[in-house]
Amino acid sequence: MTHRVVVLGAGFAGLQLVQDLRGADCRITLIDQRNHHLFQPLLYQVATTLLATSEIAWPIRRVLRRRPDVTTLLARVTGIDRQARLVLLEDGAPVPFDTLVVATGARHAYFGHDAWEADAPGLKTLEDATTIRRRLLLAFERAELAEDPAERDANLTFAIIGGGPTGVELAGILADLAHRVLPREFRRIDTRTARIMLIEAGPRILPVFPPALSDYAAAALQRRGVQVLTGQPVTDLSARHVSIGDQAVPCRTVIWAAGVQASPAAAWLAATADRAGRVIVGPDLTLPDDPAILVLGDTAHVDQDGAPVPALAPAAKQQGRYGAALIRARLAGQPAPGPFRYRHGGNLATIGRNAAVIDFGRIRLTGRLAWWIWGIAHIYFLIGVRSRLAVAINWLWSFLSRQNSARLITQRETLRPPGGNAGAAAGVDGPGGTAMTRETPKHPNPATDPPRRNGQGEHEGVPHSPEEFDVMNPAKADKTPGGPQENQ
Ligand SMILES: Cc1cc2nc3c(=O)[nH]c(=O)nc-3n(C[C@H](O)[C@H](O)[C@H](O)COP(=O)(O)OP(=O)(O)OC[C@H]3O[C@@H](n4cnc5c(N)ncnc54)[C@H](O)[C@@H]3O)c2cc1C
Repeated sequence: MTHRVVVLGAGFAGLQLVQDLRGADCRITLIDQRNHHLFQPLLYQVATTLLATSEIAWPIRRVLRRRPDVTTLLARVTGIDRQARLVLLEDGAPVPFDTLVVATGARHAYFGHDAWEADAPGLKTLEDATTIRRRLLLAFERAELAEDPAERDANLTFAIIGGGPTGVELAGILADLAHRVLPREFRRIDTRTARIMLIEAGPRILPVFPPALSDYAAAALQRRGVQVLTGQPVTDLSARHVSIGDQAVPCRTVIWAAGVQASPAAAWLAATADRAGRVIVGPDLTLPDDPAILVLGDTAHVDQDGAPVPALAPAAKQQGRYGAALIRARLAGQPAPGPFRYRHGGNLATIGRNAAVIDFGRIRLTGRLAWWIWGIAHIYFLIGVRSRLAVAINWLWSFLSRQNSARLITQRETLRPPGGNAGAAAGVDGPGGTAMTRETPKHPNPATDPPRRNGQGEHEGVPHSPEEFDVMNPAKADKTPGGPQENQ
């Protein structure tokens, strides 16, 4: 019987492995809970209106259309029966394997404050990006509508928690949006007065970069009007405020960029994990007690020179390549390749228009040159000529015109004012009220409400947060059929 390789996750690691197994003597089943491969490093540009979703994501079936040896399944993995050699799916029959590759990535970590997720979404999926984009755009819209100066200010206050590359990139581009793109379009507010806080618990932002580059990034952000708050942990947050130490700041938009933890693969495999939940694998990326199971990418912990290989896209791709070489060698009865070695190309982060930091080890760059190199590197790593051209044109257009093209608010927005009609909402949103008022929080109670799932692991029909509303017609709230649109 043909050897069955089952790959969980079509991210950087899983997809690379499948691509590198082209022509190998095996049948591959690739399982992912989403129908697309996602280029996460540019997610923040979708969240901040610069790029459309389809420019950074590609249907997996399309990518693998010329591979009859690969079967793609859109399904959510819920467990692995190691003894029976079966992958268990949420909706679907178990899938048998001879070799299993687990590459299911990572998800947000709220450090024990899971309840914060509803009010401070993280950035990991396209849905996250469009949720954040919607909230950012709606905050400006609500500020334009607000009569009460305090409510207006709260809507123009944005908190980004976490000073790593994602937080820095979000803060920088949000500042560009508020200062360069939006001012000409609003009449009742000056979007340049937006207060953007980048809050980092540690002593400096971009901690993986050398201190001089962190300092450059902090100064560049401050020049753009971003308040960089280091050494200041967030102690509480809600849809209406963020608390930094014992100071509560009224704030309607909070974004979480502070931490990730691995997918639950360690639990599925009953394997040893590190503190971030990553499965500890041997130097050949297999489970120490089960060489037919490989764990790759953000889900894996592999040590190199006394430190874990970083959770980065190039590391995941290199692991995918290595995993394919190992499987090929085994199938051909050849000696296995030596231990996996990660080659680090460097760290890059943008701070906004004309500013970036690059650490290539001996070579360190900042400013405009670094920004161009950053852009070219990211375009190079996108899939397909169409995406590269689309992203390059979008960037060029935005650079020249100061316009961002992906600014439609198209997802379902719900405002359910108490009493069920918009009129009844007046005056219930605190002193002064607002023209559009937020509903009372209605989060599902896990103890009493059955989970509603759409087959892809996302809650369906539950508003992401209480402050979501129908901009055009609040009274229609919660009746609007909706959901993510194509290419928004
Ligand atoms: C916002 C953001 C910005 C980043 N920026 C950079 C950057 O600039 N440079 C860089 O090098 N790295 C960056 N990274 C990190 C990089 O994206 C990850 O290291 C990389 O994606 C890891 O690849 P992976 O294959 O392990 O996982 P992923 O690419 O996350 O892929 C995992 C796949 O598994 C699927 N999956 C998960 N759970 C299940 C399940 N239960 N059932 C079925 N399928 C499942 C997911 O849908 C996904 O397709 C960034 C990450 C984020 C979130």
